Amino acid sequence: MIKCITCKRFSLPIICKKCQKLLLKPNLSTRTLPDGFKIYSFYKYSDIEDLLKTKHTYLGSFVYTILAKNSFKHFAKNFSFSNSVYALAIDDHVRYGYSHTAILTKALKSPSIKPCFNTLKSQNSISYSGKSLDYRLKHPRDFIYTFKRDIDVILVDDIVTTTTTILEAKSVVKKHGAKPIFALTLADAKNL
Ligand SMILES: [Zn+2]
Repeated sequence: MIKCITCKRFSLPIICKKCQKLLLKPNLSTRTLPDGFKIYSFYKYSDIEDLLKTKHTYLGSFVYTILAKNSFKHFAKNFSFSNSVYALAIDDHVRYGYSHTAILTKALKSPSIKPCFNTLKSQNSISYSGKSLDYRLKHPRDFIYTFKRDIDVILVDDIVTTTTTILEAKSVVKKHGAKPIFALTLADAKNL
């Protein structure tokens, strides 16, 4: 990489140190679902929209690695819990040679968090991008959970919009005897 994709100045990382400092300082927001379950997000979707859209290209793996370093990694450093917990990437299928949810989940690795992959996969690959809540409800992800019972779990996704994906993931994990304690997403797109 030669130029920062944000300010176009010379930079080796694809987002220069200065832009990371200015744009990627996380500002944690919380959504509480009716049952009390919490979804924490590090950024507002509109603040990093252009960066998030790189996930539809190969550049996304570099951008998501930097986003994860500034948010998820930082979170993991300050997180402690009575037990060790597992972080599960929601639907970490690989496109363009990487999985964006796997990159985020990996950044949570710490003495108290164990990242896990390929444990919560969707059986359909319909894109929800720009789709209505009604559409999303009519086309569930049909997740399959293939991991341990009796564990505490953090659910990881990149964007939370209507919460349908997280709700579905949460219910599948619970049905198989594991306990989702909260969800972490990179960006909240509440006002889309
Ligand atoms: Zn820059």
